[in-house]
Amino acid sequence: MSSSHVLVLNCGSSSLKFAIIDINSGAEALSGLAERLAEQAPLIKYKHNGSKQCIDLNAGDAHQVAIKQLVKLVKQLDLAQNLIAVGHRVVHGGEHFTKSVLINDNVIDAIKQTSVLAPLHNPANLLGITAAQHAFENLPQIAVFDTAFHQTMDKHAFLYAIPYALYTEHGIRRYGFHGTSHYYVSTQAHKILGLSHDQSRVISAHLGNGCSVAAIKNGKSVDTSMGLTPLEGLVMGTRSGDIDPGLFSFLVNQLNYTASAVDELLNKKSGLLGISELSNDCRAIEEAAAQGHPQATLALDIFCYRLAKQIAAFVVPLGGLDALIFTGGIGENSDVIRSKVVNMLAFLGLNIDTDKNLAARFGNQGVITSQIQPCAIVIPTNEEWVIATDAATIAQEQ
Ligand code: ADP
Repeated sequence: MSSSHVLVLNCGSSSLKFAIIDINSGAEALSGLAERLAEQAPLIKYKHNGSKQCIDLNAGDAHQVAIKQLVKLVKQLDLAQNLIAVGHRVVHGGEHFTKSVLINDNVIDAIKQTSVLAPLHNPANLLGITAAQHAFENLPQIAVFDTAFHQTMDKHAFLYAIPYALYTEHGIRRYGFHGTSHYYVSTQAHKILGLSHDQSRVISAHLGNGCSVAAIKNGKSVDTSMGLTPLEGLVMGTRSGDIDPGLFSFLVNQLNYTASAVDELLNKKSGLLGISELSNDCRAIEEAAAQGHPQATLALDIFCYRLAKQIAAFVVPLGGLDALIFTGGIGENSDVIRSKVVNMLAFLGLNIDTDKNLAARFGNQGVITSQIQPCAIVIPTNEEWVIATDAATIAQEQ
């Protein structure tokens, strides 16, 4: 076996997703998830050679324990000698990073500085980086940022209409997220549809637990629906997306909410869950709606309406539309949501093809409209692949 494998780490506050990817073939030699890291009974679930296994972890410094166990596993499975790099997903790169970079002390300082903008995510990402540096001290470590792809946005798209000094002094602006996914699926769309990089107008809808839309002109992000934080924009599983900011003072002054209670309400108790009072899971909502549950139906209607409205708005910066991409767990699987949204966008020349829409599910890609120009297309995302290939390219340059 040649040395062509990259370990991809996505370290969250209570979970660690990992994969070892062969950059020559795209095959996953190992993939898995360490979960419940901040809770009782943490464990690692992994898949190797088609078989699924589980390892119980000791409680304690859970991230360190999980990485140590992962290193042991990688060695036991004889995968360590083929590794050429470790690629880390980092949520927020602020304005420091417009592309993936080799991690050194300056990069770590910049990720720390940016933690103020992503207090739940960046510190967890740093835990993963530090633990991996310890465990794989001879391997180059590369950071791949969720925000980097959107650093091509112009000021008129990324500034809020609030006092300018809040931007210059505190970095308050729209950054956007899911950049790795928007980049991957839009690049794939260019290849599949033969779009020219000099003249292309693509809108990508990443619909998972978090949801965002990006307007991509000639391969570059010109606008996106998420902002300073991943709360802005679309209705999501538990996040409200756009609201009137006046709601904040209403909840505080009239209903005695604290700032952190408002934060929790908008991030954890809203969205599909808040409206349906049932679940944040789109599958469960669709099943309930199909059985006539009124609030589940309403949750789907609001989700689709807001999504269609956002997509239509992004035709403005693009000046037209060549392709609308659906990706993420909902975008890749929900024919119901896709057909509702595409039907609302018929005025753009999009007409759903029912058979194609049903065929493009469960990992199958494909155009789901009756014509190609413009079209709606389903493309399964692969953020791990982008992280692995960026890490391999940067490692090979050293
Ligand atoms: P994450 O953002 O955590 O990576 P995913 O991209 O896996 O999440 O998306 C999770 C969402 O995808 C959930 O709301 C789930 O219900 C939805 N989903 C997965 N499969 C289907 C399906 N067959 N139909 C509708 N929604 C689905």
